[in-house]
Amino acid sequence: MSKIICTAAIRGAHKIVKRAEDKLNETITKKGKDHQVEFPNTAYFFPIIYSMTGMEVKTLAEFQPVLERAKGLLPPIPSDKHWLPYLGHALDAGMATLFAEEIIEACKYLIGPDPVDGIWLGAADDVILRERGIEFVDGTAPGFAAIVGAAPDADTAVKIARELQQKNLYVFMSAETNGVSFAEQLDSKGVQLGWETRLVPFGKDISATIYALGFANRAAMSFGAVKPGDFRHNLLYNKARIFAFVMALGKVDDEKYANAAGAINYGFPTIADTDIPEILPTGVCTYEHVVSRIPHDKIVEKAIEVRGLKVSIHKIDIPVPYGPAFEGERIRKDDMYVELGGPKAHGFEFVTMKDISEIEDGKIELLGPDLKEFEEGSSINIGIYVAVAGRKMQKDFEPILERQIHRFLGEAQGIFHMGQRNQIRHRISTEGYKLGLRLEHIGTILHAKFHEEYGAIVDKVQITIYTKEPEVEKLLGGVHQAFVERDERIMGMKDNTVNLFYSCTLCQSFAPTHVCVISPERSGLCGSVSWLDAKASFEITPTGPNQPIEKGDVIDEGTGQWDGVNKFLTDASNRKFEKVSMYSMLVDPMTSCGCFECISVLLPMCNGIMTVHRDFTEMTPCGMKFSTLAGSVGGGQQTPGFVGHSKLFLASNKFISADGGLARLVWMPKELKEEMGHLIETTAKELGLEDFLSKIADETIATTEEEVLNHLQKVNHPALELNALI
Ligand code: SF4
Ligand code: ZN
Repeated sequence: MSKIICTAAIRGAHKIVKRAEDKLNETITKKGKDHQVEFPNTAYFFPIIYSMTGMEVKTLAEFQPVLERAKGLLPPIPSDKHWLPYLGHALDAGMATLFAEEIIEACKYLIGPDPVDGIWLGAADDVILRERGIEFVDGTAPGFAAIVGAAPDADTAVKIARELQQKNLYVFMSAETNGVSFAEQLDSKGVQLGWETRLVPFGKDISATIYALGFANRAAMSFGAVKPGDFRHNLLYNKARIFAFVMALGKVDDEKYANAAGAINYGFPTIADTDIPEILPTGVCTYEHVVSRIPHDKIVEKAIEVRGLKVSIHKIDIPVPYGPAFEGERIRKDDMYVELGGPKAHGFEFVTMKDISEIEDGKIELLGPDLKEFEEGSSINIGIYVAVAGRKMQKDFEPILERQIHRFLGEAQGIFHMGQRNQIRHRISTEGYKLGLRLEHIGTILHAKFHEEYGAIVDKVQITIYTKEPEVEKLLGGVHQAFVERDERIMGMKDNTVNLFYSCTLCQSFAPTHVCVISPERSGLCGSVSWLDAKASFEITPTGPNQPIEKGDVIDEGTGQWDGVNKFLTDASNRKFEKVSMYSMLVDPMTSCGCFECISVLLPMCNGIMTVHRDFTEMTPCGMKFSTLAGSVGGGQQTPGFVGHSKLFLASNKFISADGGLARLVWMPKELKEEMGHLIETTAKELGLEDFLSKIADETIATTEEEVLNHLQKVNHPALELNALI
């Protein structure tokens, strides 16, 4: 490393470590040294500190030894011109910087300024890690660009961001240049920010840069089997597997140098647009550490070249950019060319299985007028009819394939996919239309993507698109009938009519003992894996996270225990747990990872339970908020009296049936009641509970257990009649 950079990085590290010390002292003074500290909804302590040192920081006091360690790493500031620091000094200074910044950000969560503010998102929680981290491992996202600072103007920022999105890279943003940040520049141009678009604004402070590196560390621990404290393995994993780089835009000050030095530890180089001394390859890296003076129209290309990234984009032959980064993009009314379906026109999308001899692979037909024959702003009648065939295809997989249309079409820039089945309301943007996007491209996309992702079950895909009103209307009848039959068939699937349940162990990546046992009447606790989904996923990837479980002999019909299921759990949880009840939250409840849509908790005084969902952030009658509950229930544990589950499970006949079932439910947030009310009411009727929904309290009625009890007595809630719970 050149002397100038080393000196600046070491100076920067000293400043940041000092800042961390002051911030920690201030926080301890205000909150006390034993105060708990964490990034919200995470089970991984502080990712950089934990992965590098193995230190499990849970309280402010436990930051003290980390701070000492950071100080110990700091080389003296080179003032003597005869003393020449070498790369190792700067790397140590870089590491000290990252530890210190994690302390600073953690303290901010306790005494402010809140890292989550306006466009700024702060730390990624465990659910985001599961959803997004896996993309770094399966290659959907090859890596990330950590942008530090700001572009010279907002238009340049947009150009750089779009280019990175098209390469499927995540863009993590932090810090500022002259008071302006890259994220604010994008925001000022109306660019949609967030995890959905892969444009992630972490924070305006330089210390927010650790969220990007922390994310990489957590992915390494979760998906790369890197052990906490094994810093060597961690760094090697990141260097080899996570294709990341720092893009420093605008003036690089001491603090930014210090962060760049931290990133170099990971093998992440820094690419800058300004004139800073370059660092050419040494024995440590096979590529440059710092490359400077790169013009903005070349900077993305250069970064990718320097980091040696192989971007593999499956080319789909359409005139607009395509990729996961565009999936979350919304098209507003002002930007839309036409609406497909929606309130003013008929529309449907439908996947149906045909015999392999009946269809022709790759045949795409448009029957009716195309976009150019419609006026701008109009609503078009549309039928998207997809016929699939394959030796391993099953009728049951139709809805699963159909659900993918949302993602497949949404990933095209210029198409906004909303709704499903015969309730669709898609939009084509004016920009997309101008680029040449036409209705046949819907077929092009679906054909390519079904083959690419579902090639294991689908051999042929044929797409017909209808746009004449009478034809669409006529087809709708048959399609609607098919949906009704499909629903009846799925509703008819019961736990006792199948021999196989399925597992999901995807979340073992961060909750190593967690096993979701998925049955027709109990979906995975994240709500995104039904029994059919798991079955199809097993057909597609026989060695994947969804494995068939032979139920075996009944051990206890009431609690829902089978010897085959127990045996599976024993193996899959690494012998941590040996028994699981499908229908009880009191006796051997299912393990909870961290992704549960809801948590149910015993309310002893009420002889019932309460259920709270993730979006409800206020206090609940059990005396804990969702986030606190999630912290104590999650992580792959069995916690009798508590259980994480999907929203849909509330409407299952089997919902805690061993503990009294739905009749035990005495409190839930109003929002959840409104969302699930219809289904709950139907199930309640089946169970012989009259007028049940109105008897459940919510936060507008009761916020403490006593108030809930009062309400129960007033409305004569059936829970009061049930056997004593404990
Ligand atoms: Fe995780 Fe269970 Fe959802 Fe699978 S089904 S992703 S294990 S929560
Ligand atoms: Zn999970």
